Amino acid sequence: MRPLLSTSGYRMDQTGSTADCPEPAGELFDTGRFGTVRVVERRCPLCDGGSPIPVPGYGQDIWRLVRCGPCGFVYLDRAPDYTALFAAMAWERTGAAELERRAEIRPFSFRLSRATRIRMALLPRKKMADLVARAARPGNVIDLGCGTGWQAAGLGPAYVPYGIEISVEAAAAADRVFRPRGGAALNQPALAGLKSFADGFFSAATLRSYLEHELYPRAVLRELWRTLGSGGVVIVKVPNYGSLNRRVTGRKWCGFRYPDHLNYFTPKTLRAMAEDCEYRVRFGLTDRLPTSDNMYAVLNKP
Ligand SMILES: [Zn+2]
Repeated sequence: MRPLLSTSGYRMDQTGSTADCPEPAGELFDTGRFGTVRVVERRCPLCDGGSPIPVPGYGQDIWRLVRCGPCGFVYLDRAPDYTALFAAMAWERTGAAELERRAEIRPFSFRLSRATRIRMALLPRKKMADLVARAARPGNVIDLGCGTGWQAAGLGPAYVPYGIEISVEAAAAADRVFRPRGGAALNQPALAGLKSFADGFFSAATLRSYLEHELYPRAVLRELWRTLGSGGVVIVKVPNYGSLNRRVTGRKWCGFRYPDHLNYFTPKTLRAMAEDCEYRVRFGLTDRLPTSDNMYAVLNKP
């Protein structure tokens, strides 16, 4: 069956407060570069605990890197709310600002690092499509944070691409890519967008460089679970906060982006959050090497 699609934009009626997804607070913060944003106070995304310990020397402005006392999860305990993400803080802009920041603190290695990233960017599309082909049954596949649709466009003909994307322009571009193949892209936050789809609608989901941005990662993983069929898989790629490179490079680590990287997973905390949402978790042999900045995991709905 077709999902109930709403491509007219952000639906405020689907952002009701729950334990996983509280209402944004009213505090405002002038970022200068991005204008004034409303700030959301966050409890621990993994255990919902409220006793964060600041990680000294990390973070920027009001965006604090903290470690949860009870469970050890590392995250930002404040975030700009979705309204701000829609307008002033689109990924494209924070990405550009972050490149400037890194150029300032790492002038000599910056050029090489950026060139390397551009070369590496040619690879993931194939990798995610290959992982889907290997792990997922034919059917509908959802890409959370699908951008302009470039990644899901690489899926084989056995799959119908769907996506959810908060950038207005990128979502429109992705929709143009997905429609001819029978899919669609929604311009919404992931949690609201997923609620548009029926139980068991998807055979797979791809979360590439997405979950670290998500304000409500546990709520999204739970809602995604509902939309997956039995045997459905979620392929996750996130920066690995437990990586050797993060320990060696400290605050210059490429995984830090303030304030758009909100969640800093290690293999242990990614597994804990996914298992809390009823998934079985599998890391491949090369998917969480301590030397890599990123890790891959396959979450399975039994
Ligand atoms: Zn915690």
